[in-house]
Amino acid sequence: MSSSERPAPKPGVMDIAAYVPGRETAHGVAKVYKLSSNESPLGPSPMVTEAFAARNVDLATYPDGSAHVLREAIARAYGLNPGNILCGNGSDELLGLLCQTYLAPGDEGVFTEHGFLVYKIQIMAQGATPVTVPDTDLTADVDAILGAVTEKTKIVFLANPNNPTGTYIPVNEVRRLHAGLPGHVILVLDAAYAEYVRRNDYEAGIELVSANTNVVMTRTFSKIHGLAGLRIGWMYAHEAIVDACNRVRGPFNVNALAIIAGAAAIGDRAHVERAVEHNEAWLGRVSEVLEALGLTVTPSVGNFVLMHFPATAGKTAAEADEFLCSRGYILRRVSGYGLPDALRMTIGSEEANLGVLDALKEFMA
Ligand SMILES: *Cc1c(COP(=O)(O)O)cnc(C)c1O
Repeated sequence: MSSSERPAPKPGVMDIAAYVPGRETAHGVAKVYKLSSNESPLGPSPMVTEAFAARNVDLATYPDGSAHVLREAIARAYGLNPGNILCGNGSDELLGLLCQTYLAPGDEGVFTEHGFLVYKIQIMAQGATPVTVPDTDLTADVDAILGAVTEKTKIVFLANPNNPTGTYIPVNEVRRLHAGLPGHVILVLDAAYAEYVRRNDYEAGIELVSANTNVVMTRTFSKIHGLAGLRIGWMYAHEAIVDACNRVRGPFNVNALAIIAGAAAIGDRAHVERAVEHNEAWLGRVSEVLEALGLTVTPSVGNFVLMHFPATAGKTAAEADEFLCSRGYILRRVSGYGLPDALRMTIGSEEANLGVLDALKEFMA
């Protein structure tokens, strides 16, 4: 068979660097602590288990294609109109759906230098042009983003807070960004870690969406709600955007168990509060110990920290990763994000956090 006889993916696809998920396991250790994907050490709300037990889910039947039970539960929790909510198989699906719906070859999608990798992948999958904007101090730079916008720009993605840096920009900066964008450009505010942020000048984007036709906020059940395995995300947007995306999406994109679990989880505010408290208790402590070991820590408002191994430390991120893995602690290498000298650590259980800190102390000595 000659190569000309083989099916060829459409232009751009083979230029995509496939997403590499956080490592899941380590070999030859008694216990593995997975701190590589920002999952919640608390797991899901007990109300999820109760909801499953109370409902006899018929697995032979298609789920409700509009996921209305879930959309209504989200709407109730946030005081929104369910008609402005669209649910997805994880917010990753929604990020892709926005690209599918709004980007054609020749269009440009803008995102930040150390931004979430899914944006670039989904822009390229549409044959559109990815435009990377440099950060300032590992933080989104509004002027630089606005400077990258052209007539061809259709979407600007901003993870706020950002993964893997853990940094955020305050709401006045998000408003300034929006104010500088032409009306035909969609500003996507990816607020996957919004619940963790405890800053008075932070907003996830609800008000900005409510007041405008060209802003989308995406949220996820994978992080603070502890439901990454079920794949549940949602977006809040003007009805014209919801309508367009509804035409493109898979008709049953949210499965029956996800609808039940998400609706139960969103109502359990106490569980979310417990997760926030756990994170608050550990984020500062972990950061302090890492700095005391000679590492540089980027100030984080999420449920993870980015630690940098300075050249002067005489130890590299890759070596640290190997060492930690041999002890069962799986962190995240972030070379793919242009951060070869750093590791990202999810705030885990007490046992996991203390274990990593002890192992790193030994490694750095
Ligand atoms: C984890 C994460 C998501 C979410 O993913 P799901 O597909 O909802 O699991 C989205 N954006 C960012 C920045 C993330 O870190």
